[in-house]
Amino acid sequence: MEPWQIGVFTSVDAGLGVHLDVAQELGIPTVQVHAPHQATRTKAAADDFLKRTRAAGITVTCVFGGFDGESYADIPTTARTVGLVPEATRAARIREMKEISDFSKLLGCSAVGLHVGFVPADRTGASYKSLIDAARGLLDHVAANGQNLHLETGQETADHLLEFIHDVNRSNLFINFDPANMILYGTGDPIEALKKVGHLVRSVHCKDGKWAAPELRGKEWGTEVALGEGDVGMETYLRTLKDLGYRGPLTIEREIAHDRERQKRDIGTAMELLQRLKAQIL
Ligand code: MG
Repeated sequence: MEPWQIGVFTSVDAGLGVHLDVAQELGIPTVQVHAPHQATRTKAAADDFLKRTRAAGITVTCVFGGFDGESYADIPTTARTVGLVPEATRAARIREMKEISDFSKLLGCSAVGLHVGFVPADRTGASYKSLIDAARGLLDHVAANGQNLHLETGQETADHLLEFIHDVNRSNLFINFDPANMILYGTGDPIEALKKVGHLVRSVHCKDGKWAAPELRGKEWGTEVALGEGDVGMETYLRTLKDLGYRGPLTIEREIAHDRERQKRDIGTAMELLQRLKAQIL
């Protein structure tokens, strides 16, 4: 695959990201997709989606899982509800994530993505250890499908994410790096984080954000903004990716699904910015 192909985060039916027709209209060659709900994770739905992506000349590069009951309303709610960390829903979500891996295989896609949640800080605690076991079970299923699992960044510091990946100890566990999330969650300077985890980065989000006030970082969200208007520093981000030898897609993520027109406009602008930087840097 040509290096640094532009991509966009889309959705089969879950309402996140942009719709496929917008990607097609903008001439974007790759997409990451949010997995559809259980009722539509069928062979027929996969075939239909594949037919549409092929007709549009679009390659699916990663399928992201998400679950009912997750809420990103604020940081404490996110910590309580998101990913595989909450114990009450863990077993059911692992099962569902395995189904999402199977669905991704039907799409011919060799990567699945996930927000694992706020990994417990104490590496010796029971909650951490049971999370490691659950993750291993999932990764073995994903490996049997010939796939890798990419963990989204932001909910942990780069150092703790590395510890977790080390402890899970599976060769198909990698990272989807989202620089804006490091800022939004207040978990560290995105460029410093990228340098630390870069050897494990297999996909990236191109998203931007502004830090919350220093006393609020990690407690309240920073602000997601259009690409190039935030604190990430897109040129430094792309130069760092180049230095790390990253050649995968550059997937634009703009999380304002409630405002379709603005989302489409911002993605168009983001695409121009990335193409200009790509021409300069690559
Ligand atoms: Mg992201």
